This record gives sequence, structure tokens and C-alpha cells, in this order.
Amino acid sequence: MPLPSPNPDLAVAFLTGGQLAGPLLAEASLLRDEGHGRTVTYSRKVFIPITTLCRDTCTYCTFVKPPGGGGEYLTPDDVLAIAQAGDEQECTEALLTLGDKPEEKWPQAREFLDEHDCATTLEYVAEMAELIREETRLFPHANPGIMDDDDIAMLRPTNVSMGLMLENISDRLTEPGMPHHNCPDKVPAVRVATIRSAGRQKVPFTSGILVGIGETPREVVDSLFALADLQREHGHIQEFIIQNFRAKANTRMRLSPEPEIPYFVRVVAAARWILGAEANIQVPPNLTEDFSVYLNAGINDWGGVSPVTIDWVNPEAPWPHLDTLEHVTASHGFELRPRLPVYPEFLTDEWIDPVLLSAAVNRATPDGYAAIPQPAPTP
Ligand code: SF4
Repeated sequence: MPLPSPNPDLAVAFLTGGQLAGPLLAEASLLRDEGHGRTVTYSRKVFIPITTLCRDTCTYCTFVKPPGGGGEYLTPDDVLAIAQAGDEQECTEALLTLGDKPEEKWPQAREFLDEHDCATTLEYVAEMAELIREETRLFPHANPGIMDDDDIAMLRPTNVSMGLMLENISDRLTEPGMPHHNCPDKVPAVRVATIRSAGRQKVPFTSGILVGIGETPREVVDSLFALADLQREHGHIQEFIIQNFRAKANTRMRLSPEPEIPYFVRVVAAARWILGAEANIQVPPNLTEDFSVYLNAGINDWGGVSPVTIDWVNPEAPWPHLDTLEHVTASHGFELRPRLPVYPEFLTDEWIDPVLLSAAVNRATPDGYAAIPQPAPTP
């Protein structure tokens, strides 16, 4: 029997009452099949950490480094070398990830930007995206932290899509002792403003939640409903990432418990129920040993997987080999297909700058997925 329409109280009951998991998972799978059939996608990418400097200090983060301790910018040559390596391996996505506004904290960041004639780190990101677009066949997808209207307008002509995790809608996580304390870019209202601005400017956008950083089940549910509201406003959230927190050595949260997988599976299924059949719902496959469990919880995407670079945000967690990903996906009755960093339904001039659009259409199959040449058989 189908579940009733999503409502927050029932969603919390699903997350906290293990015995309710069966109907929730069944509904999530049904909705996924209705919206996406038996196709599960991934994006063949390279991860380009434009800068590991950041003005924030989230207590679970190992990506961020101080100057002199690994915190630095990639030069244009570094960026191009990674992008070209990805191009040779038929990658289609250049994921540009970085810390938030490091120039507002670190003189070294300001110095680097001055040397490169950029007023802000985001201006440097726009230049690097342009370099990648000109010199390779990759499509930049910037994940550069908080952006205002002008930043988004500046990045739109060179990025087929952009992203910013909501992480959680609760201000409580910014209070003293919580992971986002003293992190100006993690204030939920500021993140919502960026997501909304991307919607107004018709940018295919990636967002999502991070589960297990001290939030309650109610706050998880509130975050999913907040994303559903944002999607209703602008229809621009092309994918929702549901990511499980992993405790990392050398962070203040190294001893914090990680979400238990049965609980996290229910979160994923609740996301499908709340966000609906058409939503693209992604769980990274490198953060759970048996990642196949999410196929029964309504996902239809594995996110970016790289045959070339590590996951700089979770360096301890290698991505599965693409053959393994394909085998696991197929053994559960799904077809694995590569997609561009923009989903097929957003591959139109309403959503993408005309120059980028024609390049993207050229690298797409007739139904809008990524056309990846098969390697020639060995004689
Ligand atoms: S999670 Fe992002 S915003 Fe927080 S410290 Fe790390 S790089 Fe900075």
C-alpha cells in the first residue's frame, strides 16, 4: 500500500522506528522506478582542489589546511595537468572544489590572488573554469562555497552546473561546541540564499545533506523539507546528495560516532519519499563498504567517480573501480550509465549557456547521457 503524502512527523517516525523501514524502502524503490526506471548514473570526473585554504574551521574537515601545512592554491598549470589527465581517460566532469573565501582570513591567499590578478578566489575559479573549457573537453562543475548573485552570474558561462551542500538547516549546529561554530559560510540562511540565487539564475544545481554531524532526526527531516521547498520555488536542484559523515583522524570529530548504516538507509529512503519520484538522489559509493544497500533505498545516482584522482574531501575512502560499480549495480538489476555533470533533463538553453550547451550536446547520447567511447578491444 502506498505511503501517505510526505509529512514531517511521519518522516521522523520512519527515521527513529526501525520496524517501519520495510514500507519506507518499498515506497522509495517504487518512486525511483517510476521516475527513473532501472537506470542508475554516475559522472566520470576529475577532482580539482583549487585551494585547500578556507576561512572556516568545520570540526570534521580534513580538506582544509593552513598555509605552510598544505594549504595552498593550484596554479593554472596544476589545474590544466589534472584536467588533461581526466580528458585522456574520457572523463567529462572537472569538479572544482575549494575552501570558502580564504582571502578573508589568510594573507597568503590574498598574495596568491594578487599575483594572478584576481580580486577574489571565486574570480580565480572562473578563470580556471575558462581555462579547462578552452583547453580540454571537460565540463567544469564548481562547488566553491557561498556565492552571491554576481558570483553565480560570473561562473555560469563556464560551468554547466554548480553546487553547494545545504548540509543541515538547523542553526543549532553553529552554536558553541557544534561543528559549524564560527563558520560564517555554514550559517543555514546564507546557504539557502546561495541555493535560491542559483535558482533565480537558472543554474542546474547540486545540493544535499550531511548526516551524522550532531543533528537530530527532526533536523534531518527539516533539512529535506527545506530542500523540497527550494526545489518547488525554482526547479533547479538537479541532484540531491545524501552523504553520511565519516570520522577522520586528525579532526576534532575523530571520535564522534558515524551514522549507523540501517539508520542512514532510512534517511536515504525518506529523502526519496519527501523529494519525489523525479528527483535525482545520490549517495557516494565510497563512504560505505556495502554501498549496494542504497539501491534498495531509492537512489538513482552514484555521483562523481574518478578513474584518475582521489576524493580530496574523503581521501581515506577510495572510489570503487568503475568495473566494480557496474557489476554491483547490474547484479541488483540496474543499468549503470555515465552522465555529464548536468543531468539530461537540464540539457537545454533554458539552463545552460549556449556555448557550453552545444559542447555538452556534442558529448551526449541522443537521450542526454554521456557518450563515453569504449576502449578498443586488444588484438
Ligand atoms: S568543510 Fe568546507 S567550509 Fe568547512 S572547513 Fe572544510 S573546506 Fe572549509
